[in-house]
Amino acid sequence: MYWADKIVEDIINSQKHQPYWVDDMFTPSGYAHMGNIRGPLIHDLLYKILKEKGKKVKFTYVFNDMDPIDGLPSFLEKDFLKYMGFPLRAVPSPEPGFANFADYFVKDFQKILKSIGVEVKFLSSWEMYHQGKFDEVIRQALDQAEKIQDIYQRISGSQKKALGWLPLQVICEKCGKIGTTRVFKWDGQKVTYKCEPKLVKWAKGCGYEGKISPFGGQGKLAWKVDWPAHWKVIGVTIEGAGKDHASAGGSYDIAMELCQEVFDYPQPFRFAYEHFLIGGKKMSSSKGIGLKARDLTSLLSPELVRFLFCRTNYREAIEFNPVGTLAIPDLFDEYDRCAKEFWQEGKQSDLGRVFELSQIDKLFTKEIFLPRFRLVATYLQMPGINIKAQFEQEKGSKLSAKEEKILKQRIKYAQIWLEKYAPEDFLFRVQPKLPKEAKKLSLLQKEYLAQIALLMEKDWPKEKDLEDKLYEIARKLNLSPAEAFKAIYLLLLGKSHGPKAVALLLSQEKEFLSKRFKEVLK
Ligand SMILES: [Zn+2]
Repeated sequence: MYWADKIVEDIINSQKHQPYWVDDMFTPSGYAHMGNIRGPLIHDLLYKILKEKGKKVKFTYVFNDMDPIDGLPSFLEKDFLKYMGFPLRAVPSPEPGFANFADYFVKDFQKILKSIGVEVKFLSSWEMYHQGKFDEVIRQALDQAEKIQDIYQRISGSQKKALGWLPLQVICEKCGKIGTTRVFKWDGQKVTYKCEPKLVKWAKGCGYEGKISPFGGQGKLAWKVDWPAHWKVIGVTIEGAGKDHASAGGSYDIAMELCQEVFDYPQPFRFAYEHFLIGGKKMSSSKGIGLKARDLTSLLSPELVRFLFCRTNYREAIEFNPVGTLAIPDLFDEYDRCAKEFWQEGKQSDLGRVFELSQIDKLFTKEIFLPRFRLVATYLQMPGINIKAQFEQEKGSKLSAKEEKILKQRIKYAQIWLEKYAPEDFLFRVQPKLPKEAKKLSLLQKEYLAQIALLMEKDWPKEKDLEDKLYEIARKLNLSPAEAFKAIYLLLLGKSHGPKAVALLLSQEKEFLSKRFKEVLK
């Protein structure tokens, strides 16, 4: 059974976690990276499968925009240092056209998620706090601060916090920061706090001391308390977590315990999903490892982005490094394989199911011809070639409108791949002058080229006829096909390998070829 179907089966069989409400979240303190797509995509799958089974289900995605800025993307390090410690929503946007700092990154990620078919209602933490929706859970948390500390200690083995610790931070009335305030007294109406110069390393408090109501958006719960508080406020019954948070004794465990013990709210269905790795390393925006989510959606079509996340079991790490590798053509090949499986076996096959759930607009229920991505990329490097005609020849008939649309899309992404990501090895260009590598040609190879030169003076309406000849001549000369084609590649590309030799020859102008043959044979 496909892994997401299995999770849904477990949810339904538990007979708990109703009404079904799937939720996930993101802190918009910078551009989302590729790996950040995994969470919302997994949750989107659960939502869609529950819906498919006729269940009533809701799906929300929370942006934690009340959190303080505690680190900056490198391009903002210079100008935005002065905003460290402020709530994300209270800082100006890095670029005009956005309401604030959080909004800038929120809009970016929203656009990406929508483009890959994630159907979710977006929520803002800041708004829910300011609408007073958190007032009740704030009161519960402040009243039970001791108990919360005990749970922290019991679950994570952490040290007991300072006497009078309260799980809340308020926005300083004097300087506007939230990351620097220490709340130390709660009288049932108001909290007393100090904006500490040295509470955190990344921001400096102003020293102000005050008394303020923690309600209506003036205060925010500490993150491990804030998480289960969201579950209760929203009504969440299903929420997974990335491996980072889900380690034993980590924030997910603590949140689950607080959910039940402090907020008296049933624990959501839990599951932990693995990392997204690039070159074996965990993605990290701050260390500059990996690509932004928006880069991924610009180098792959939306279905392929979904596919990348749908195909891998949530318990396994996704390893994807598109830079200088064949990861992208390989991904397209796998996609095509799953498509065929779907057309032949239907959704009962796991691979077929992956294809089905990767679709965004319409599902192609009947088999269609898919032009292989790496061939598209190969043909693109042969200027004289008619790509559509090549694939029609391969298919044996004209491409349908749908197939042509897919071909156009693949051409677009293959161009991007060739320009930015393809390994040097895959790139070839017909050299305008005789490449110096042609000196490596053996006498036998030169003899071979001399005979090919004669052949190329004729017209070859059928590729196959010429191809047969290329093999036949090699055989007569006692030259292996590999050595024979290498001669053609050295002559035209200056490399020992290349695309299909016959197609390469036929894509060249006759005059150009004849000149090249003369040069090498003189
Ligand atoms: Zn202050």
